Amino acid sequence: MTRCDHCGNEVVLPFSCQYCGGKYCPDCRLPPNHNCVNISLWNNKPRPAVGISYGKGGGATPTGGGYIADSGRAAQKRRGDGIPYLKIMIAIIVLILLGIAGMVLSGYHLG
Ligand SMILES: [Zn+2]
Ligand SMILES: [Zn+2]
Repeated sequence: MTRCDHCGNEVVLPFSCQYCGGKYCPDCRLPPNHNCVNISLWNNKPRPAVGISYGKGGGATPTGGGYIADSGRAAQKRRGDGIPYLKIMIAIIVLILLGIAGMVLSGYHLG
């Protein structure tokens, strides 16, 4: 059994701080929680996933929107934030429709 270097609690699987090398319990593993001597290094880095945030896009997914006929697939694609899948989908659909229309029209003329 290992003891947390900060609070002294016994921990089965201690977390080792990558900045100071100490062994800490889950509560103390983050540099600010054990007064890490190298906390300045940690401050310069993006935060590790401290408790997963379900703030955005997690639980409440709006259902039953009135998008387009393809709303099912479009809604799934929209989970990727930042990429305008919906616009891309619409553009592709429009292009396909135009292509089909052109083929049909030319087909009628030829036939
Ligand atoms: Zn601790
Ligand atoms: Zn540390």
